[in-house]
Amino acid sequence: MKLRRRDFLKTGAVIGAGAMVFNPAIGAFAKATGKKKTRERAEGWYPSTCQGCTTWCPIEVFIQDGRAVKVRGNQNSAINPGTVCPRGHMIPKQMYDPDRVKVPMKRTNPSKGRGVDPQFVPITWDEALSTIAGKMMELRNANETHKYVLFRGRYSYSRDILYSAVTKIFGSPNGISHSSICAEAEKSGAFWTQGFWGYRDYDLANCEYTVFWGSDPFRSNRQVPRAMSRLKELQANGKIATIDPMLTGAATKSDIWLAPKPGTDGALASAMAHYILVEGLWDRTFVGDFNNAGSFEANTPVDEADFTETETSGLVKWWNLELLDKSPEWAAGVTGIAAEKIKYLAGQMANAAPYVSIWYGPGIAMNPRGSYTAMAVYALNGLLGSIDHKGGPLQTTHVSVNGIPDYHDYQDAIAEEGTGYPKMDQRGTYLFPALHKGKSGGGVVTNNAANAMLAADPYNIKMAIGYWCNFPFSGTEGSRWVDALSELPFFAHVTTNASEMTQFADIVIPAAFSATEKLTFLKTYGNRYGEATIQQPVANRLFNVHADENEFSFLLAKALKDKGFSNIYDYFVNEFKDPESGASPTNEYEFAEYATKIFTKPSYDQLEGGWNEYLEKGVVTTEQYAFKTHWGGNFGTVTGKFEFFSETLKKALETHAGKFDKTVDELLTDTNYLARGELGFVPHYEEPKRWGSKEEYPFDFVDVKS
Ligand code: SF4
Repeated sequence: MKLRRRDFLKTGAVIGAGAMVFNPAIGAFAKATGKKKTRERAEGWYPSTCQGCTTWCPIEVFIQDGRAVKVRGNQNSAINPGTVCPRGHMIPKQMYDPDRVKVPMKRTNPSKGRGVDPQFVPITWDEALSTIAGKMMELRNANETHKYVLFRGRYSYSRDILYSAVTKIFGSPNGISHSSICAEAEKSGAFWTQGFWGYRDYDLANCEYTVFWGSDPFRSNRQVPRAMSRLKELQANGKIATIDPMLTGAATKSDIWLAPKPGTDGALASAMAHYILVEGLWDRTFVGDFNNAGSFEANTPVDEADFTETETSGLVKWWNLELLDKSPEWAAGVTGIAAEKIKYLAGQMANAAPYVSIWYGPGIAMNPRGSYTAMAVYALNGLLGSIDHKGGPLQTTHVSVNGIPDYHDYQDAIAEEGTGYPKMDQRGTYLFPALHKGKSGGGVVTNNAANAMLAADPYNIKMAIGYWCNFPFSGTEGSRWVDALSELPFFAHVTTNASEMTQFADIVIPAAFSATEKLTFLKTYGNRYGEATIQQPVANRLFNVHADENEFSFLLAKALKDKGFSNIYDYFVNEFKDPESGASPTNEYEFAEYATKIFTKPSYDQLEGGWNEYLEKGVVTTEQYAFKTHWGGNFGTVTGKFEFFSETLKKALETHAGKFDKTVDELLTDTNYLARGELGFVPHYEEPKRWGSKEEYPFDFVDVKS
């Protein structure tokens, strides 16, 4: 029987309806009778955290008879002023979605493929866990623990329990996250220039010119409630511009909208930088100046000795290598935007400098060669002196939490051997530098995991557990995931709703819904604050579900113990004692609670009422971020300066190329970049990589990213 996508996505509901024996109350908004009861709560607002996107907004949920009925922003939060975006308001609908996976299921059709009906049938939790643990034990008994993979999509900060500890104590190096199809290229823009790997904050309260470039914070990821609530202020304080090929929500609220041809943002950024320098509009305080009366003339190199920089490094090199011939007239031919418009916007931004925020997002960066685009756009903030400045893009404060307890003592000889294998996604090999935070092989290569599985290189993968992920849908060229998962001998999917990836599962584990059913925490930033925000099971569960990262991990550890491998269970019981009472966890709920306490103790200890006050307030807020924290040579780059010539990138590329006795030029050539020589170390424009023939299909197709 062939299954259409719509039919398949309904599978969870159909199976759930046929599984009355496990859970009689399955109707949306039915009286709660699920397995896990939260403590009885009086009617009222209770704090938790939304995970509709990576803003991770502190929220409050109105609870009535144990049910979630309404959502608002957490009134105690200093980040989102008591507001949520429209998706936050959808939380009750998501929680009570009748199509949720309600009970564990197993596949009865051994054949796997796109459109193939898995013929799931409901099973008990015991059978589900025993089956997964049995498959894991087969690998241990064969000394093949490295052939196990944990796939992770979205996560909370309990992630290291399942992603790292379970995986490594079991004996596999293979925690594979979604990060490289999420925001790695975007983050690299600020990292290679400023040494900051993370989402930037923006001082909207003091910004006089805001440029949304490939981002739309009024609509989606990230900081939506804050951007929405500040819109009137932004408009009153100054101007807003949006640069995006599409008429986005931000564009409709802007004074200026520029729509470059998709993938040409780097050319636009270089032309703006060229114009700002030629017109003498750069910020002298942050960047510095000519020693004598010098200037930047188009097509004319500058002697580095003639210019002295203050908080930056490599401006003249950047000019000589990239900018001197990148005039607005040149960019007009590349981007389709008239030179006069480019000059006008660059001039407006410079007039408002340094109270300028160029808020860039994945729209400019999440494509091949996108890191250089992210650098080119972000470097404009440096030129305008707004980096870490009032009204500009800021780094974030430090939220105090603990890491996961050390698990190395629980790794036996099999685990040590297994974790010694190279990771299965080929990160750190010559063609996959994966330079997360500048480290060769430091990042994940998510989509290449599918290629590696198909090629059995570096080895064949025999089983995987995936949670909160749907790679055949979210990865580019999803067919590789379809093929790889079709061949994977065993796959367990931990998920709230059946998705494309679930179609390939042998066991389906029903996951608790994050915002209202799970106990964990998130770190969130904005408005110059950071917060440790609690996520807690404020509403009673309707379905027979468990939280993925902590409860499921504990149950799996118990199932493995029952089959003779107790190391993970021992680690949980010995190292996750309640920091208040010293008690060891005896079940999955206590484990989730003690783990969350251990992680968040440095934050909730700041509250007079400790843990209980934390549960009531929902957030612990940091001190406000101080402007210019990283000025004075304190940026996280090789030079300590804001780098227009990135010594940080140069070091990373040279280190990686050197591992394989290659030059940086050879590496750039073989990894499909266009830059050669020192151009590879500065922000610059690279033509977008195009798939397919322009003759056959003359249009540019890009997906929406924000
Ligand atoms: S911005 Fe993101 S985290 Fe905040 S309410 Fe909206 S979807 Fe939820």
